[in-house]
Amino acid sequence: MPCEPDHILAEIDRLVSEEVLAIVETSERNETFPSALVSKICSLGLPGLVLGQTKTPDPTTLFCVAIERLAVHWLALAEAVHLQTLATSGLAQHGDDKLKNEFLPDMLNGKLIGSNCLSEPSAGSDLSQIETTATSRGDAYVLNGVKSWVGHAGVSGLLNVYAKTGGAGLGGLTCFLVDAGSPGVQIQSREKKMGVRALPTAKIVFEQVEVPRSRILGRINRGMIVAQSFFVQGRLGIAACAVGLAQAALNRATSYAKARVQFGSKIIEFQGISFLLADMSTEIEAARQLLCRACRERDARGQKTEVLAAQAKLFATDTAMKVTTHAVQVLGAYGYTSDEPVERWMREAKLLQIIEGTNQIQRVTIASRL
Ligand SMILES: Cc1cc2nc3c(=O)[nH]c(=O)nc-3n(C[C@H](O)[C@H](O)[C@H](O)COP(=O)(O)OP(=O)(O)OC[C@H]3O[C@@H](n4cnc5c(N)ncnc54)[C@H](O)[C@@H]3O)c2cc1C
Repeated sequence: MPCEPDHILAEIDRLVSEEVLAIVETSERNETFPSALVSKICSLGLPGLVLGQTKTPDPTTLFCVAIERLAVHWLALAEAVHLQTLATSGLAQHGDDKLKNEFLPDMLNGKLIGSNCLSEPSAGSDLSQIETTATSRGDAYVLNGVKSWVGHAGVSGLLNVYAKTGGAGLGGLTCFLVDAGSPGVQIQSREKKMGVRALPTAKIVFEQVEVPRSRILGRINRGMIVAQSFFVQGRLGIAACAVGLAQAALNRATSYAKARVQFGSKIIEFQGISFLLADMSTEIEAARQLLCRACRERDARGQKTEVLAAQAKLFATDTAMKVTTHAVQVLGAYGYTSDEPVERWMREAKLLQIIEGTNQIQRVTIASRL
């Protein structure tokens, strides 16, 4: 049972101190996906908050504060919960009652892990280049193609696969809910990523994969409506990850600067360092407030927050990149080794500028509405 919204943050803090902190470094080093923790955190009711399952006045705000708190301690865990939420979104918002009865409870509590399969080798920012096809055969569709960069690949049981059923372009796509164990689904070896290594990412090949017609989410040729229904949430969740990651870097840089002595003084007493820390803390707070405003708007007005969400994602992730880079500088040589987590955080920040729409694409979105 999900816990009361008022208790979610306290429960997250408890799980962090009792179960998360002890396994972060080894899980990242051994590239181990924390399935049990993802399920425990989802079971608190996090995906349900933003998928209309819980009545509370500020679900998006609460969700993003929770994701930020997780990201302060472990980005991969925060991102896994966020990704699970996005992978459940299509089913929750566009699935029929039969599909929801069958899969939604386990997706919401993270017992059944999901993936979104949009990207392909030739289709990154430009999804109109999707080449995976779904051909009608009797009461089923047959899928053929390759999906790349699939988050949760290898640990997910259900895949939201976007394939061409109509003409060229975005108007001809359909979203299918595919069992990862279906004959013809081939999960390739995981990508060797710069960071966030506990969360697996891989290509998936679909070869003559038969999917019943009843597994279509939404309507035929209307797959982009399914995808677009989680784009805003996707940006907000990544912004929350970025604020948490940046806060972690500031915390570590500040404590180090208070302890490290050079030229007979703690380095925080040098203005070159203290002003750097002051700017880092100011930019993090600005990012947090922009995210908060975007969340409040979404809670009050629903979907009409694309621009604010794009601005929050852009600003928060650029801030995380800048702040984690400065944190390495504050720690000097120690910051450049894996004895300190700041080098990992710097590598992790880079990802946030790329996923859920690169920051160039966020600028395209913002500029187009000016
Ligand atoms: C770790 C990881 C996890 C991921 N998880 C998933 C997932 O679960 N599911 C999924 O479907 N995808 C996933 N992705 C893919 C991700 O969504 C894409 O990487 C992203 O959409 C960008 O596509 P691309 O990498 O092909 O870059 P491209 O689109 O090829 O872009 C290359 C560069 O050109 C820039 N560019 C492109 N178009 C424009 C433009 N119009 N104006 C200005 N600049 C432009 C981009 O900003 C970028 O800098 C993941 C990626 C990574 C790295």
